[in-house]
Amino acid sequence: MKKRLFWVAALLVVLGSLELAVYSRIKPPQKAPPRMTGTHIPEEMLKDQPAPMPLPPPATRPPDDQPRPGRERKPAELTTPTPTVEQLQAAVKGANVIIVVLDAMRADHVGCYGYPRDTTPNIDRLARESVVFEEHFCQFPHTTSSTASLFTSQYPDTNGMVFDSQDDLRYGTAVVDPAAFTMEKGLQGAGLATHLFTANLCASPALGVGSDFQEVKALRKSWRYQVGAIRGRRSRGGPGLAEVPMRPIGDLLPTVAARLKPMCASRFFAYVHFLPPHIPYQAPKAYVDLFRDQHAPGYWQGEAAFSQVWLRTSGSAATFTGDEWVNRYDANLRWGDDRLGKLLEMLEAAGVLDKSLLIVTADHGEGLGEHRYEFHMTCPYDEAIHIPLLIRFPGGKGPVGRVTALTQTIDLLPTIMDLFQIPYPKDQVQGRSLLPLLTGESQRVNDYVFARTGGVYPCYVVRSKDWSLLLYRGGKLRALYDLWDDPRQRYNVIAKRPEAAAAAAQAFEAFAKAQRWPPLDFVDPKYQPPAGRERPTQEVSEETRRQLRALGYLK
Ligand SMILES: [Zn+2]
Repeated sequence: MKKRLFWVAALLVVLGSLELAVYSRIKPPQKAPPRMTGTHIPEEMLKDQPAPMPLPPPATRPPDDQPRPGRERKPAELTTPTPTVEQLQAAVKGANVIIVVLDAMRADHVGCYGYPRDTTPNIDRLARESVVFEEHFCQFPHTTSSTASLFTSQYPDTNGMVFDSQDDLRYGTAVVDPAAFTMEKGLQGAGLATHLFTANLCASPALGVGSDFQEVKALRKSWRYQVGAIRGRRSRGGPGLAEVPMRPIGDLLPTVAARLKPMCASRFFAYVHFLPPHIPYQAPKAYVDLFRDQHAPGYWQGEAAFSQVWLRTSGSAATFTGDEWVNRYDANLRWGDDRLGKLLEMLEAAGVLDKSLLIVTADHGEGLGEHRYEFHMTCPYDEAIHIPLLIRFPGGKGPVGRVTALTQTIDLLPTIMDLFQIPYPKDQVQGRSLLPLLTGESQRVNDYVFARTGGVYPCYVVRSKDWSLLLYRGGKLRALYDLWDDPRQRYNVIAKRPEAAAAAAQAFEAFAKAQRWPPLDFVDPKYQPPAGRERPTQEVSEETRRQLRALGYLK
């Protein structure tokens, strides 16, 4: 017995010293990252400005940065005959519902969305049997808020899941109102057992979303765990986040596989949230080798270099170029797509894939340096909010094709409820059912979609098919991009096109007034929010608080 204890202790010492050896290989940064500037941004707002702001118009237009060809596109191009609502409902009768999320998967890096690299062979194959929504957007480029909007069909300013700062004490205690109607409640009420599998704690009841699922399986050692552990070490005088590499993350597939048989014994709703392509970009070597040392197609980098913080989280990334960083992201995406492919194989082998409505999407995209943003939470541009959405009907026997109408995350709940004929409280649900786009009854469901970012300088995005308007708190700072002339959102034309900005701002006001906590301070500097409307928080146990502190969510 003593001998065994000795060997266990010796093993721990060896592992500990290996960890130290890894840390000591990472050199601290040589110089601070360059500060961003912006000619149209008031100087006082740039003081201590931690987040990038709207881009000033560049002096010259690069030759490879061309407008999109033509403004006219058909809103829906289905390759199958247009179904009736009754046919759509018959196609899902008795079916399961499976939603698969690849965390931080931006649409323009997916093959069936036009990316020339082979990053997503499984999604591309799926697209041939699915309806692909080309212009789909999330409500908040942040896992917890976006997932809350998916499950509630409410904007963050109505379901309360808004995070303006990583240090916000509500972070970790904010919770979807227990009284709110949720996707999992609705489907459970219709007789489906509900299961949530997540590799990101941010999409779990630990952070206030998915609390109504009957079964929750969360990988505890997700990347958040690692960040928390690193922060903890720093507070004890150890190396900080920037100095240590992240360890490879866990794989969610075995967790799903272990529960597959009992899950498939009855009708079910499964929400499966994979972490890749989210940071750390640490796909196995075989995936990294696919794109190593290549020029990332279509990639352009903003005027400032990366802040280097996130780069350093992947080990020797301090020396990465923009191309290599994108190559790593793409490798990670390919890895995530591979996880999805394996999941589909498992579902097929279990005989449930063709008996399920399958939805593949993302919670948000990812900045790769284009607008001086890496990561996603604070980025208001398409790279962080434009996400894929594919809907495959059971057996691939539903409509197939492409929809170019504007859609958003909150639209999924009413779409699913309408398909399964489940009644839902229309006054609580803010999304629009997408069925009219599939039946041809309507050619658009949204004139605008609305997204919000977090961080110290939160920003609203008011996005139509033609324009993207950015609004910052205080109502004075704005930016406008012409999405047809300037699809990369590089030229702020707010001074040239005041009428387009005014129309979008008007749409924002109507949107804002409809929220439980109206964000009217983004258009009116004098606006005072109404008193007495506390956002819901969850009563957390001391044990959960201890865990949240260890994760870095609470002080
Ligand atoms: Zn996420």
